[in-house]
Amino acid sequence: MNEVRTIEALAERYPLIRSMSRGEEVLWVNPRRDASPSPEIADEEIADAAARLKRFAPCIRRMFPETAGSGGIIESPLRDIPAMMEALSSRSGTPLRGRLMLKCDGELPISGSIKARGGIYEVLHFAERVARESGMLRDGDDYAVLDEERFRRLFSGYSVAVGSTGNLGLSIGIMGARLGFRVTVHMSADARQWKKDLLRRKGAQVVEYAGDYQKAVAEGRRQAESDPSCHFVDDENSRTLFLGYAVAAARLRDQLEERGIAVDADHPLFVYLPCGVGGGPGGVAYGLKRLYGESAHCFFAEPTEAPCMLLGVMTGLHDGICVQDIGLTGRTVADGLAVGRPSKLVGRIVGPMLDGLFTVSDSRMERLVPELWERERIFVEPSAAAGFPGCVLTQGDGEYAAGFEEEALKNAVHIVWATGGGMVPEEERRRYLAVR
Ligand SMILES: *Cc1c(COP(=O)(O)O)cnc(C)c1O
Repeated sequence: MNEVRTIEALAERYPLIRSMSRGEEVLWVNPRRDASPSPEIADEEIADAAARLKRFAPCIRRMFPETAGSGGIIESPLRDIPAMMEALSSRSGTPLRGRLMLKCDGELPISGSIKARGGIYEVLHFAERVARESGMLRDGDDYAVLDEERFRRLFSGYSVAVGSTGNLGLSIGIMGARLGFRVTVHMSADARQWKKDLLRRKGAQVVEYAGDYQKAVAEGRRQAESDPSCHFVDDENSRTLFLGYAVAAARLRDQLEERGIAVDADHPLFVYLPCGVGGGPGGVAYGLKRLYGESAHCFFAEPTEAPCMLLGVMTGLHDGICVQDIGLTGRTVADGLAVGRPSKLVGRIVGPMLDGLFTVSDSRMERLVPELWERERIFVEPSAAAGFPGCVLTQGDGEYAAGFEEEALKNAVHIVWATGGGMVPEEERRRYLAVR
C-alpha cells in the first residue's frame, strides 16, 4: 500500500483522505451503516464473559479492597455534566439539546482506564483455564480461593505477555502480577516513563522498544510464540479482550435504567468513544448495538495524526492500510490512541455497524482536559477527552442531525466515554491542567 498511484486512486474514491492527510479534523458518516450483528460474535459469548466476571468478583474483592463497594465488580460511574455541556454549546455556537453524560472509565478501579475491562478480563480468563486444568479449581468453588498461596505458586509457572502503549500494559501487569503470573510488558518508545516505573514496582518486567506500538506488539508476539507456558494478550486480534469490553454495554443499560432513562427511536442514545487499535471502543459499541440496535448511535474519535480505524473502515481495507500510507505520523499526545494500523477483527466486525468516525486535533484534546476539570472537577487524560467534539458534530447543521426529528434530539442522551486518567500521577496531572 505504499504506491503513490494506489493512494491517489483511493483519494479519488474517498476525497476525505485528502483532508485527513493534511491533518484536518474531519467527520465521516458511514453511508452503509447497518446495526445487524456479525455472525462471528454470539450474544451468548458476551453473556458468558459477564458471568465469568461475576464468578471472579469475590476474588477481585479480596485482592483489591477498593472494589468492595461494588462487590468486586469493576465498574465506573455515569455522571451528568451540564456545565460542560453549556461550555461546549457556547464555544461551538451549536445549541446542544438533550442530556450530556460522562462515562467515567478513568475511575475504574485497579487500573484507571477502559483497559481495566478487556485487559483484566483476559488475564482472569487465562487464570481460570490454568486453575481448572490443574484440577485445583472446580465448578461451584468460591473464586476467593485464588488469592491463596497455592494458586500463586501454580500461576508462577506461567507467564503473560502484552505489547502496549501503556494502559493495557498497566491492566495486564497489575492483575497478572497480583495473581502470581510472570508478566512481561513490551512497551513502545512513546509510552510514559511513569507507566514503566509503576509496572516495575508492581512486579512486571518491562521491555522497551525504540519503535512504535506495532513494533512492541510484534516483538512481544514473537517472543511469546517460543514459550508454550506464555499467554500473549494480542491487542490487535483478541476476541477475549473484545468480549471483556462488550460486557460494558449491559452494565451501562443498568445504569441508564436506574435513572429512568429510556432508549428507543424517539429517545436516541449517542455514544462517543476514543479509538486506538479498536478493541475497547469496538467491544463497547458492539454490545450497545446488540442491546439497542439502531437507537444507539455509535461514533469513534481518533487523533488527526492517527485515524487508523477511520481509514480502514471507510476504505474497507482494514489492517491493509495504515496512517503512514497517507502521509501522517501516527504521533499524538493522546498516547492511548497512538496507533497507525487498526485491528482487523474490530474493523471487520464493528466497522459496518458504526454510525461514524471523526478526528480531533491534539491541541483540542489538550484544551478539553483543563476545561472539563474547571467545569466539572473531573480529571481525564488527553486520549479520554477525544469524544467531546462528537456531541457538537452530531447536533450541528451537518448531515447527521438532519436525520432526526427535533423532538428526538431534545430527548436524546449523549454519552462521552472518558476512557482513562485514573492512574496519572499528580505531577503529570498538573502539567495537563496547565494547558491553555
Ligand atoms: C486504549 C485506550 C483507548 C482505546 O482503546 P483501543 O482498544 O486501543 O481502541 C482509549 N482511551 C484510552 C485512555 C486508552 O488507554
